[in-house]
Amino acid sequence: MEQRFWEKSSAIVLAAGSGKRMQQTVKKQFISIGGHPLLYYSLKAFSDMGIGSIVLVVAEEDFAYCQKQFAASGTFARPIRLAIGGKERYDSVYAGLQQAEGAEYVFIHDGARPCLERDVLERTAACVEKYKACVAAVPVKDTIKIVDENGFAVETPERSRLWAVQTPQAFQYELVMKAYRKMAMEPKPGLSITDDAMVVEHYSDYSVKIAKGSYHNIKITTTEDLAVARAYLSAFLEE
Ligand code: C5P
Repeated sequence: MEQRFWEKSSAIVLAAGSGKRMQQTVKKQFISIGGHPLLYYSLKAFSDMGIGSIVLVVAEEDFAYCQKQFAASGTFARPIRLAIGGKERYDSVYAGLQQAEGAEYVFIHDGARPCLERDVLERTAACVEKYKACVAAVPVKDTIKIVDENGFAVETPERSRLWAVQTPQAFQYELVMKAYRKMAMEPKPGLSITDDAMVVEHYSDYSVKIAKGSYHNIKITTTEDLAVARAYLSAFLEE
């Protein structure tokens, strides 16, 4: 992808979650791996692409720490601005989108996914340039069952059509902003939004294209995930 593409893009890196499933005193996005807070790795991946700017979305209580650690540290070649996140992930994304105004494309990424490879970014970039709305995803390896409230399997969707969706999720800025604005004005009752593609699917006329992600691109959710991320990141760090 040409350098100009990256220059007119912004990354929105989300780190305003509470990390409640982690059972640790330090929030998962700040746990140290390889001498850096986990969040460092995805910020570095975007900075290394030469992206126009990065909006880092954090909780209010972490603002001062993140300002010092990431935004004002001079560690990254690209500028980092902070935004304060909200109660739900989509509130945090909306706050980030408002700060990314002026970008042609936005890459929304979970700060809890530190193992973000250059190849995944390149594939997502090529996809969003062509299709305007795109998510990184991998084919599921397990058979997935839909289960009823009593724990009995009721349905088994055809595995060849199931993809596990990751981030980055990349969009033309105006398209995703319009969809988020529409959701804010006319929310659909009972719809539980878990990713940005869902917002575009439900609140715009665009279809979201899948770009090949990576099985390395895991989301740190529980303590077991940390050991896996450490192993992957040490391989990156040695390269
Ligand atoms: O909770 P979950 O692991 O799905 O969160 C995915 C990402 O979204 C994490 O990086 C988390 O910090 C971020 N998030 C956020 N604001 C929220 C909830 C989650 O920035 N209100």
